[in-house]
This record gives sequence, structure tokens and C-alpha cells, in this order.
Amino acid sequence: MNNQNDDYEFQVFIHPSQVQNLWNNINEKLKKSVGSKAYESWIKPLNIVNYDGKKLILSASNRFLKDRVITQYGREIELICKKNLPGFQDLEIIIQEENTTVNTSSIEPKAAISIQEEDAPEDFTQQLDRRFTFENFIVGKPNELAYAAAMRVCEANTPGFNPLFLYGGVGLGKTHLMHAIGWRISELHKEKKIIYISAEKFMYEFIKSIRYKDTVSFKEKFRSAHILMIDDVQFIGGKDSTQEEFFHTFNELVDNNHQVIISADKSPSDLENVQERLKSRLGWGLVADIHPTTFELRLGILESKVDMLKTQVPQEVLQFLAEKIISNIRELEGALNRVVAHASLVGRKITLDTTQNVLRDLLKSNERRMVTIDDIQAKTADFYHYSIAELISTRRQQRLMYARHMAIYLCKILTSKSYVDIGKKFGNRDHTTIMHSVKKIEEELYSRSDLREDLEHIKRKLHV
Ligand code: ADP
Ligand code: MG
Repeated sequence: MNNQNDDYEFQVFIHPSQVQNLWNNINEKLKKSVGSKAYESWIKPLNIVNYDGKKLILSASNRFLKDRVITQYGREIELICKKNLPGFQDLEIIIQEENTTVNTSSIEPKAAISIQEEDAPEDFTQQLDRRFTFENFIVGKPNELAYAAAMRVCEANTPGFNPLFLYGGVGLGKTHLMHAIGWRISELHKEKKIIYISAEKFMYEFIKSIRYKDTVSFKEKFRSAHILMIDDVQFIGGKDSTQEEFFHTFNELVDNNHQVIISADKSPSDLENVQERLKSRLGWGLVADIHPTTFELRLGILESKVDMLKTQVPQEVLQFLAEKIISNIRELEGALNRVVAHASLVGRKITLDTTQNVLRDLLKSNERRMVTIDDIQAKTADFYHYSIAELISTRRQQRLMYARHMAIYLCKILTSKSYVDIGKKFGNRDHTTIMHSVKKIEEELYSRSDLREDLEHIKRKLHV
């Protein structure tokens, strides 16, 4: 089993017939790492759609499964793929209902050539989630600015700020707010053409339009929007021609006083591999960040969810969840759903005890996510017998450099911090230096068992 890497090490192209085998191999490893029960419920139902030597695309039969896999097992799948899939860089899970054609818009064009193309529905509301309305959005300190700005956009006839740039960590309500804007404006101003699209999909549509020599209608479509919402814009990092097109679309809309709303997981200036002029343009309007949740907000969301589910959950259980599930709101909702579903399945009351039991894995992973950059620096420095000052210094002694790369790598895989944030904590290093360190360790982990052992030791010290 240990030679598995070596078998593939010199393979540059992945032949399609190999793809299923590679996935089977990864499945074996995942089964060991997540346990067979979790494996049967969550990993086994996934299917492989494509692997092009860089990006692995899996499909899930519904959104619930997809979200669950991403929040719960995404990191594990990525780690195992990094070790076992040559060239692996990226994981994407698409929703593909059984017995229907593949939604090609979320697959790389070259993988989708033989599959029937399906265009996005013209009625934009079909792309919006019914539940994501202002009424269902609970407002608290962390998101009050974003909420107020979103409401203002709906009321204004000409944009007061353009663009509205919403940013915050994963699962904190960016998409929810954008859909809420979509619903509200479609009620208030039926005549307005609203487009909501993820940046990834925008990119695929753009590439598709080039492939089919149909860029004119692509441009027309987006430039005719009264309201254009682009979600998760961080995904256009590194995609130069898409950025170029986006930049022009953006300028034209803003010049015509049409509202643009953008979301991302980082502020405009922190976006990675995005052209400077685009970054600065994105920051021109109102930049509203959504902060990590507070206990009060989490409790408020749980209480409103309990109302919506028309069920009853003891207050101490809600408080327990609000205290423990701190990662993001998606996971918080998932936890509540699980507790409620379990109780109704086994026909027993919800108690603190059953809650702890049902959510054991989730509670553990929430603890795990609390590792900070400071912790990682302290434990790594200690492990290699350096001081923290030495670790973040510019000294270039070889062993020290490895310790530094290792600490940086751990920060990337164990925290949700960006390269820029990590750079700041490592003596104000540039984000490209940080990316280099991460890449260095990733590459060397393949061939150096001593590094793999170091990694495991430090992780153990960090209790992850
Ligand atoms: P993001 O786009 O920031 O990753 P989402 O908008 O998809 O996050 O939110 C994740 C989940 O959390 C969704 O189910 C959403 O309805 C819910 N959610 C987020 N913020 C709130 C809030 N303030 N009130 C109620 N539900 C929320
Ligand atoms: Mg989102």
C-alpha cells in the first residue's frame, strides 16, 4: 500500500480509464480515515465525474449531501487526494441528481464535450434558494452592516454605493444575503433584470462562449443586467481572461448606474492572484464584512430554526450547540438538523446526552478548528528546538527554514487564514513567499518520510 504513490509518480497524464481506479484507491483510504459508518453514509454515495490531472470533480445527488461532505469531510478528502492523486490541486463537488444529464456549466469544458449542454434558466429566480430571504435572516452584531447594506440596495432606485462588496468566512451568510436581495428586488421591481451567478459559473460560461464563438451574446447577457450579483469572486483568482472580461462588464454596469453586488471570502485587497486594477475597483463602493458569529447570534439562529422546523428542543441543548459549534452557520444548522432527525427516528426526546452522542464527530472537528497561528508557531518552534523569534526571522539556516516552512504549511491546512494573513504573522512576509513554503512542504511530503513523521508529531502536539 505504501508504494501506491510511487506507482503514479512519473505519470503526467491521467488516462480516463485510470480515473475510476484512482478514486477507488482514495475511497479505501478515506474509509480507513473516517471510519466505515461515516464512509457508507457520506463518501460512498459520491461519484467521480472527472479528474484532469489537477482538479477532481465529484458529484453528489443532492445539496444536503454536498454541503455535508464539504463541511465535514472536505479537508480530509483533500488531504488524502494530495497524498495519492498525482498533480491534485483542487476538489469540486457538483450536484448531479440521479438519472439526469450532467449540469455541464460546472464542469471544465474539455471534460464536458460529449455531454449535452444545458443553459442556465432565463428565469433567474429558479437559481435562488427559497429559504434565503431577509425574513429568515437573523441579524446580530457580526452581520448587521452587511444586512443593512443589503436592505439599502433593495430600496435605492439608483445605486448609493457600487459595488456592494460582501465578504466573510465560509458559511456566514453571504449567499443567503445575495439571494435575499434577489427575492426582494424581484418583488419590488418586476421590470428589473437580475442576474445571480457564482464567479466559477461566470467563468465557465465565458469559456464556453469563447469555445462556441458566441462571446457577443455572453457580453449582451451580462451587460444588460440591472442588478448583477457575482458570488464567491475569489474563484477568479489566476483566471486572467475571465478577470479581463469581468472588469469590462463591471465597468460598463457601474457606468450605467446598474447595481453590482459581489461576495468573496476575503476583502478586495486580500484577493489572491487578482489584477490590481480590479481589486481597487472592487473596493470603490461599500465593503461590508461579515464577522465570525457570536454566541448570541448562533443562539438566535438556532431558535428561529427550531420555530421553522415546528419542533421543540430544550434550551440547554440549544445553548450547548451555540457554544460548541462555532465554525459556521451552515454547520450549526446541520448539527441541529441531525439532532432533530435522530430524535424523531429513534422516537426519543432530545437531551444534552443524546446531542453529545449524535454529534460526537462534529464536536471534535469544531475543537480541531480552533488551532491558531500562535499555537502552531509555538508548537513547531518547540518541536524543532527554536524560539518563535527564530522561527519567524529571516535567518536562512537550512533546518530552521524547514521548521519555518512546516509551520507555515500547518497554518494553511489547519486554520482558515489566507496566505496574506499568515504572511503577516510570519514577520510580514509576502503572500507569494508563504505560497512557496506551502508548496515546498507539499512536494517534499511525497518523498520524505522524516517530514511526514515531523508533521504527525507536531499535529499531535496541537491535538489535531
Ligand atoms: P456563505 O455564502 O457565506 O458561505 P451561506 O449564505 O450559504 O454562507 O450560509 C450558510 C447557511 O447558514 C445557509 O443555510 C444560511 O441560510 C444560513 N445562515 C447564514 N447566516 C444566517 C443568518 N444570519 N440567519 C439565518 N441563517 C443564516
Ligand atoms: Mg456562499
